[in-house]
Amino acid sequence: MANCIFCKIAQGEIPSTKVYEDDQVLAFRDLDPQAPEHILVIPKKHIASILALGAEDKDLTGHLLTEVIPEIARNLGVDINGFRLVTNTGSDGGQTVEHLHFHLLGGRPLTWPPG
Ligand code: C5P
Repeated sequence: MANCIFCKIAQGEIPSTKVYEDDQVLAFRDLDPQAPEHILVIPKKHIASILALGAEDKDLTGHLLTEVIPEIARNLGVDINGFRLVTNTGSDGGQTVEHLHFHLLGGRPLTWPPG
């Protein structure tokens, strides 16, 4: 999508600090980290949010959740003490970038509930 910042990151038009990449998925460090490890995991395809996922995205979401995110967590070492996976959705959810992304946060104890 033309004016989507995460599409530009996925296409390499805007640089990012990558921690994982394959043909469908990119994961990179958040520019404003909220924890020692704060990674954004995005599909390369433009999908506005979790609400915009369709039946055609089942393989992609399965790949993301069952393969990519556990692999990233293990590579960062946050599988040992745990981590949080969040996808903010819409204005009440605090979504500021309208391209589906999962925040993987770890490296310190995280409090609950969120603000
Ligand atoms: O969930 P939300 O949409 O608010 O998350 C967007 C995230 O994208 C923020 O954590 C922000 O720091 C990050 N971001 C980034 N690099 C950009 C633009 C936003 O890491 N160029």
